[in-house]
Amino acid sequence: MPYNVSPIGYVRSCFKEKFAIPRQPQLAPAARGVLELVAPFDQGDAVQGLEQVSHVWLLFLFHQALEDKPRLKVRPPRLGGNKSMGVFATRATHRPNGIGQSVVKLERVEAGRLWISGIDLLDGTPVLDIKPYVPYADIIGSAHNNIASAAPELIPVQWVDTALLQAQDHARRLAEPLVELIEQCLAQDPRPAYQIPTPEREYGAQFWDLDVRWHYPQSGVIKVLEVIAAKS
Ligand code: SAM
Repeated sequence: MPYNVSPIGYVRSCFKEKFAIPRQPQLAPAARGVLELVAPFDQGDAVQGLEQVSHVWLLFLFHQALEDKPRLKVRPPRLGGNKSMGVFATRATHRPNGIGQSVVKLERVEAGRLWISGIDLLDGTPVLDIKPYVPYADIIGSAHNNIASAAPELIPVQWVDTALLQAQDHARRLAEPLVELIEQCLAQDPRPAYQIPTPEREYGAQFWDLDVRWHYPQSGVIKVLEVIAAKS
C-alpha cells in the first residue's frame, strides 16, 4: 500500500551537481548549506530546542536518482563501479523509495532555517524529516562494516598559483571556506575508479556558483587548474 510523504524543506547546498560530492557526510566539513523549511514548519515552534543539539539526522529524497523500477543489485562507486551487491547492503542512491540519510552538523538554528555543514547533499534536495543525533544511542563502538571499513583514502591536492588566488578571492566574496571545500572534496578523488586519467584530461565540477577544473598531472595527485564563474 503506498504512503504519501511530503518534504518539510529543501537544502540549498554548495553542491550544484552530483559529481564530486563526498560519498558520505562529515568527509568534507567545509561543505555547507542551509535547510529551508516550508510551511507550517517554517515557524520557530518547529525547531524550538534544536539549539541544544550539535548534529541532526536528515532523511531526504535522492530526487535526482528516482526510478520507477526497483533494483535488487547495485554497483556502488566505492567498489569501483564494476562489482554488484544487494541494494540493502549499500548506501547507493538508486534504491527503493529513494530515501537517503545523513548526519550533519548544525551550525545555527533560526525560525525556518537550519545552517548545516559536513553535508553530502545536492542543491535542491527535498528533506522528509529531521531528527536530533543522540550520541548514547547512535554511536555503536563495536560496529563493523567489512564492505566499507574506513573512509576513502585521500590523495594530495595541489594548486596552480592563479587557481589558488581565484579560489581565495571567491572565498572572500562568498564568505565561505572555499579553498578547504575544494581540497576536502577533491582529495577523495571523485573520478570513477575505472577511469585512468591522462595528464591532458581535465575534470570539472560546480561548487557554489563556480566551475572548478582540475587534472591528474601524475597518478594519485590532483592539481586544481582554475576556479571561475560558472556559466548560467
Ligand atoms: N549519506 C547518504 C546515505 O547514506 O543515504 C547519501 C549517500 S550517497 C552514496 C551520497 C551521494 O549521493 C553523493 O555523493 C551524491 O552524488 C548523491 N546525492 C546527494 N544528494 C542527491 C540527490 N538529491 N539526488 C541524487 N543524488 C544525490
